[in-house]
Formats: sequence, C-alpha cells, structure tokens
Amino acid sequence: MKKINIDASLLPYNTFGMDVKAAVLAEYDTVNDLREILNDPMIAGLMQAEKEKGRLPFWHIGSGSNLLFQGDYPGVVLHCLAKGIHIVQKNDVSSAKNDEICLLEVEAGTLWDDVCAYCAEHGLYGPENLSLIPGEMGAAAVQNIGAYGVEISDLIDEVICWDVEEGKEHRFGGEEMGYGYRESRLKHAADKARYIVTSVVLKVQKARKLRLEYAGIKRALGIENIGETDLATSDKPTLQEVREAVIRIREGKLPDPKKIGNAGSFFKNPVVENSVFDALIAQYPDMPHYVVDQNHTKIPAGWMIEQCGWKGKDLGRAGVYEKQSLVLVNRGGAKPEEIVMLCKKIVEDVEEKFGIHIEPEVNMI
Ligand SMILES: Cc1cc2nc3c(=O)[nH]c(=O)nc-3n(C[C@H](O)[C@H](O)[C@H](O)COP(=O)(O)OP(=O)(O)OC[C@H]3O[C@@H](n4cnc5c(N)ncnc54)[C@H](O)[C@@H]3O)c2cc1C
Repeated sequence: MKKINIDASLLPYNTFGMDVKAAVLAEYDTVNDLREILNDPMIAGLMQAEKEKGRLPFWHIGSGSNLLFQGDYPGVVLHCLAKGIHIVQKNDVSSAKNDEICLLEVEAGTLWDDVCAYCAEHGLYGPENLSLIPGEMGAAAVQNIGAYGVEISDLIDEVICWDVEEGKEHRFGGEEMGYGYRESRLKHAADKARYIVTSVVLKVQKARKLRLEYAGIKRALGIENIGETDLATSDKPTLQEVREAVIRIREGKLPDPKKIGNAGSFFKNPVVENSVFDALIAQYPDMPHYVVDQNHTKIPAGWMIEQCGWKGKDLGRAGVYEKQSLVLVNRGGAKPEEIVMLCKKIVEDVEEKFGIHIEPEVNMI
C-alpha cells in the first residue's frame, strides 16, 4: 500500500505542532511500495531538483518527535507505515547464545514503545529503561535514543536499510553504525541521502538483567536502600515494574506532546574537556556533571539554561518548559521562526555566561 499526497499538511506529522506543508508526502508499507515511490517520475524529478540545490533528495520522517520544520518543505517527505515485531533465528549464533538472547526483527514504522511493551510482556530484558520514548523503530536506530543509563545501540544487532543509490537492501551490523551519544552514521548527509531504514534486528536478553543504577528509577521503585547483591539474587523488581516506574518518572517530568507541542530535549548535553570543566566547577561548585571518560565531562544543558533564567519563560508563543529547561514548547500556534528565535537566544545566553556552545539535538529542517 502506498499513499502520495501533494501539498500535504505536516501538522499531524510533527509533535511540535508546526502548521507547515510538504510539496509531496509519500507513505508506504512494503519495500516494493517504497521502490515504486522512488521510481515515480514526478517524485524522482523533485528529488533530483533538491539534490541540484545542494540539499538532501528527500526527508524520511518517523512520527516527527525530534524534528523542527522551519517552514514549508519544498521536496519529498517519506514515511514508513510498516509495523510488526518478528522473532528471528540466525544460524551463525551458537545454540548456547540462542538460550540467552532473542533476536527480534522490528519493522521501521513500529512505535518504539510498542516494542518496549512487547518485550516486558514476553519477559525479554533490554529495552525497559527506554519505555515511553516517543517515535518509531527506524528513527530510534538513527537517533540512538537513550535514557536512564541505556542507549538503543546496546541492543542493536543489525539495521536493515534500502540503499537508494544502489537500489538494493543493505545491512549494517550494530558496530558499523558509528554510534555515539545521540549519534549515528545515518544522521549525516551522505548516508541520510542514501539509506532508508526498513527494519531493525534487536538482541534482547532472556535472562533477568536489569539496569537499575539510575537513582531516580530506584527511588520510584522504593528500593534505594537495597544493595546490588540482594537485587541480583531477588526476583523483584519485575521487568513490568521497572517499565512502569520509568513511565511514571517520564510522565511526571516531560510534557505530553498531545497536550503541549514539543520535541523532547531540544539541546544536547555538551561534553567538554576537563580543563574547561575544572574552570567552570571552580566558579560554580554546585554545577551537576557526569564523567564521560578520563578527559571529558558532560554538563547538563538544562542546568545551564536554568542558570540563565530561562526556565518557564516565553518568547512570543515559544517557551521553556517549567519542569525541564532542556525542553522547548509551543505554547499554542507558535510559528517555526518563534521556536528558532528562542533557540538562538538561549544558545547566545549560555555561551555568554558559561563560554560553552550548546547544539540542538532536534533535527532542524
Ligand atoms: C516528550 C518527548 C520525550 C523524548 N524523550 C527522549 C529520550 O528520553 N531519549 C531520546 O533519545 N529521545 C527522546 N525524545 C526524542 C525522540 O523521541 C527520538 O529522537 C525518536 O527516536 C524520534 O522518533 P520519530 O519516529 O518521531 O522520528 P522523527 O523525529 O520523525 O525523525 C528523527 C530522525 O530519524 C530519521 N528517520 C526517521 N525514520 C527513518 C527511517 N525509516 N529511515 C531513515 N531515517 C529515518 C529522520 O530523518 C530524522 O533524522 C523525546 C521526544 C519527545 C517529544
């Protein structure tokens, strides 16, 4: 099945609530439908025209929860409608390993939280800390989504793509994906113009293996005072309880895009050289921070934004969420340029106060 819409509204396709249009919005179910769309003369022509202007030939979206369309999009927007979770077997995985892990092939259009719910129901460990992160499977593998000490790259066996240039399937092993903090090779122009994720093979654990280091999760489960050894030998908390705790924490501190337009964390947390960190901590002894490695420290961008006085403040119809300064929100009817202006002001203020340049995590299109 494929649906091609000309001059299509993208309002239902972005969680920021931007009322913008795409010249073409093409949605597809199977790889065959995708191929037909890419070979359609009108679509191929638009893609070529965009390329000649030095832009990406198309933009593939998921559920639009990490995007900011800065205006009407003059080219082709693609979206995958295929949903499904399938258990797969691989001959090259030893039978000993087969007892410990389960491989799941998830189609790109499947909602990520549906994968988390499926795994929690079937006793499969790994995705539970990433529960309730909005968006689809394809995007999750591109973005390397992360929360509460887990990144999806920890769970990825293979990312299966359609190679637009070669007109055939291409499989990237997890280690070939160039994963880092909210980073992968598919975020960069050369690969973004070439590969479309059609499904992802996840490796999840059959044996009980929870990641409970994050203090907030322990607190939500009421197990702050239970030692690691006791937790390792106990059958509590259950997988479902961890998933529910993560959902409770997230619902308490992040705005629901169905009620307030937003795209989650607008900025990445900057990772700085320790020399920069040492100078800052001397000036701001209460500054929260996380050691990344011997030479680098991560500083929460939300804390810096708050120190600049932006928490809960508005600029026009764009605002900074009152419970989490990393999140920019649409107070109602905001235009893309209002969000962009707020972003610019915040970046300038953080740079002036802390000498650190923060960068958007959100894809600015
Ligand atoms: C309230 C809220 C909370 C959030 N919390 C978190 C969080 O805790 N952790 C976190 O990491 N993120 C978080 N996010 C951000 C967002 O949920 C993730 O980035 C998510 O992966 C985006 O999924 P999406 O389907 O909406 O993708 P989109 O926003 O539509 O697209 C994201 C990127 O993926 C690309 N893409 C999408 N589908 C494909 C495909 N099939 N093939 C190739 N490229 C594709 C797009 O081109 C784009 O570059 C949050 C967002 C919101 C609104």
